Amino acid sequence: MSEDAKLREDICMLAASMYDRGLTGGASGNISARLSDGRLLVTPTGSCFGRLDPARLAVLEDGAHISGDAPTKEVALHTAFYDTRPTGAVVHLHSCHSVALSILPDTDPDNMLPPITAYGVMKLGKVALLPYFMPGDPAMGEAVRGLAGKRSAVVLAHHGPVVAGKDIEAACYAMEELEETAKLTLMTRGMSPTLLSDAQVQGLVRKFDVAWDD
Ligand code: ZN
Repeated sequence: MSEDAKLREDICMLAASMYDRGLTGGASGNISARLSDGRLLVTPTGSCFGRLDPARLAVLEDGAHISGDAPTKEVALHTAFYDTRPTGAVVHLHSCHSVALSILPDTDPDNMLPPITAYGVMKLGKVALLPYFMPGDPAMGEAVRGLAGKRSAVVLAHHGPVVAGKDIEAACYAMEELEETAKLTLMTRGMSPTLLSDAQVQGLVRKFDVAWDD
């Protein structure tokens, strides 16, 4: 199977898996992944993760739509990651717990997930909370560019998370870690949970090359 065909199948299979588990509903969410020649495969605008067609994914070359259905209108969010840090794939969802956490008053915009689990720290680093933007507003992409490639995961307030990874599997797994950590954060909020210590977090940051620097 060609690289292009395999990546198309992987995108659709992973999207369906996330849809089946209720991580994003309706026609929400979008995925992009980079082929070795630099072209991007992107999920079409208005498409449902539960029934993506591998043959209809949009193909972008140097930012131009060259084949397939029209790409998501949130594509600026994706290209902002490819342009600012080593990235093989980007996943964006409208997932329940991440959005809930994004609208609570004492969520830290510079590091919105408390250090609850080692894998949350390792897979995500610091997660930045970005402001609200109108859907499709190119300023969303500018906000990601403003992070200068220092973050692989962000959450748009009142909207949803965006996670970049070295490949499609890594991006999806990190996204799932983000949503689970947001869920744990909400479950334990107000219950004085024990968090990883600063020394424990720094140990993970050093050993696993975590995106933690300001
Ligand atoms: Zn969205």
